[in-house]
Amino acid sequence: MSFVVAIDGPSGTGKGTITKKIAEELNLINIDTGAMYRCIALNCLNQGINQIEEKEKIIEIAKNTNVKIEHHGAEQEIFLNGENVSYQIRTEEVTKFVSPVSAISEVREIMTDMQRKMAEGKQVIMEGRDIGTTVFPNANVKIYLDAAAEERANRRYKEYQEKGINLELSYEEVLKAIEERDYRDSHREISPLSIAQGANVIDTTNMTIEEVANKVKQIILETKENN
Ligand code: C5P
Repeated sequence: MSFVVAIDGPSGTGKGTITKKIAEELNLINIDTGAMYRCIALNCLNQGINQIEEKEKIIEIAKNTNVKIEHHGAEQEIFLNGENVSYQIRTEEVTKFVSPVSAISEVREIMTDMQRKMAEGKQVIMEGRDIGTTVFPNANVKIYLDAAAEERANRRYKEYQEKGINLELSYEEVLKAIEERDYRDSHREISPLSIAQGANVIDTTNMTIEEVANKVKQIILETKENN
């Protein structure tokens, strides 16, 4: 029988880190749906499509994009049509293009189908923007992580410095990009980022990763006990 934990929220709330940690501790399969949308955006860019007006071509590419997530302990590796793209999907170019690409309804349908299939009969923790609202409205546990935009930009900026990616960006530029993406993700017509019915909302602004992870873990364990 499947068991689904849905983790939603805007970027920089610690979704990725917390999901990874909990997946490892509770032995759940970690599915990063943002990485899946990023694969579509990267595949478009690789094929010279960088204008959102080329909608039909983007949909065609989405249909022919095979995404595979491999797990190595707590680490995930993302494969796009057989190629390991774990780093390429994190560039600023992809980050900018993924938000408009993911607003296309046909792209969302393809991704939602793929995500539901990935979870079939499994115990998963799936992170994204619409997991609790659209992909799994009956998820066993729904969590919505939030934090002030300045704090989220701070975390993202630090992460870039640590990983050595997007080093050309200043803190102000990271903040602006986060605010733009928040706006797009929460104002699109199809499955906008919003708090799912029945979700546990956690404001992580003044919390450490440990504190958030413990709180989420406690909610999951309580739900499992009561099932
Ligand atoms: O989580 P991450 O920042 O990698 O997500 C990248 C983008 O993919 C988001 O800004 C959003 O536009 C899109 N996305 C989405 N639905 C999801 C996951 C991500 O629209 N479930």
